[in-house]
Amino acid sequence: MGRILVVEDEPAIAELIAMNLRHAGHEVVLAGDAVAAQAALDAELPDLVLLDWMLPDQSGLTLARRWRGAARTKAMPIIMLTARAEEPDKIAGLDAGADDYLTKPFSTNELQARIRAVLRRKSPEALDAAIEIAGLRLDPATHRVTRGELRAQARADRIPPAALPDGAPRAGAQPQPVARPGLG
Ligand code: CA
Repeated sequence: MGRILVVEDEPAIAELIAMNLRHAGHEVVLAGDAVAAQAALDAELPDLVLLDWMLPDQSGLTLARRWRGAARTKAMPIIMLTARAEEPDKIAGLDAGADDYLTKPFSTNELQARIRAVLRRKSPEALDAAIEIAGLRLDPATHRVTRGELRAQARADRIPPAALPDGAPRAGAQPQPVARPGLG
């Protein structure tokens, strides 16, 4: 499983998280402030960082922005942990480059699930036990995770007009643009 850096200044929370992650087979490195977190990163790049928002020296937000701006840590998966639940704070966290966001108090089951989800997307090699699980397939050659319905959707998007039945424009009819949610 993955090597996870936990940046959390509250020892009780840090220990609880570390215990759970170790139980799930992860290797855990703890850092209690931003300076320790940076030192841990410099020593060895983790597969994922759990990053508390409120730290004694610098905010997790500042750290996330700095790491996203550095070539070495640009793609490193980051999940932010925070007591803040207001929408603008979540947006600020995601804009700073966090891959996901967990609001305290959270269940350790949810934490584990979110870690698995982020690792599947960004570091599938860190989940070497999860070659095929719950309909998700990891291709070790491409490091891509796919599932049946997504592949079907990708095929539908790629069908060239000529391959569609009755592909020629009908007399008097204009070709209809394909609706693309999220665009325009
Ligand atoms: Ca804190």
